Amino acid sequence: MYGLGLAKGLMVTMKNFIRPPFTVQYPEERLPQHPRFRGEEFVWYDERCTGCASCAKYCPLGIIKIVTSPSETAVLEGDKYDIEVFDIDIGRCMFCGLCVEACPYDALFMGSGFERGRYQRKDLVISVDELRQAVKRPSTWFRPQLENARYDPQEGEPLAWEDVGREKWPWHKQEKAGAKINRTVHRGGAESSQDKK
Ligand code: SF4
Ligand code: SF4
Repeated sequence: MYGLGLAKGLMVTMKNFIRPPFTVQYPEERLPQHPRFRGEEFVWYDERCTGCASCAKYCPLGIIKIVTSPSETAVLEGDKYDIEVFDIDIGRCMFCGLCVEACPYDALFMGSGFERGRYQRKDLVISVDELRQAVKRPSTWFRPQLENARYDPQEGEPLAWEDVGREKWPWHKQEKAGAKINRTVHRGGAESSQDKK
C-alpha cells in the first residue's frame, strides 16, 4: 500500500527518538567488563613458567622476547631454566591471545586493562620485572578453570600461581628454587619416593 514504507520509516525514527542514550561519560562512568576481556597488561606466573618459549613462537608478530639460562638446579634430570628476560611489546600487540592459548602450563594470561597511554613507544614494553611485581588478576580468556570458578578479574582478589592452573603442582615452586624434595614417582603402576640432589 502506498505510504506504508513511509510509516515504517517514521516508526524507526520514533523508536530511536524515545530510546534512552547508551553512551557513557567515560572515564567517570564505566561499562561492566566481561571476565574474558583480552586486556593489555598480561598476567604471568614465574613459578609456572618453564621458559619453553611456546608463547613467543606462536605470537604472529614476534613481540615476546624470552632469554633463559640453565639454572643448574637439576642437572641430572636435564636441568631447568631461569627466566632472565620476558619482555612483551604491547605497543605492537593486537591482543589476539594466541600466546596465552599456546602456553601449556597456564603461566601466561591476558590482563584486563586498557588504559596504558605513554608518550614513547619504548615505554610500552612490559619487562619481566614488571610482570613479576604486578598484581595478578588474570582474565579468564582461554582459561576454563577460572571461568568455572566464576572468577571476575575486576572484582576478585588477586590469584596466586597455585590457584590458576589446571593442576596445582605442589612440587613445582620448590623445584624452581632448587630445593631438595621428595616426589612420588610412578613406575609401572608402583609408587616410590625419589630424592632430588
Ligand atoms: S596477544 Fe597476540 S600479538 Fe599480542 S603478544 Fe600475544 S600472540 Fe602476540
Ligand atoms: S609463559 Fe608459558 S609458553 Fe611462555 S615460556 Fe612460559 S611456560 Fe612457555
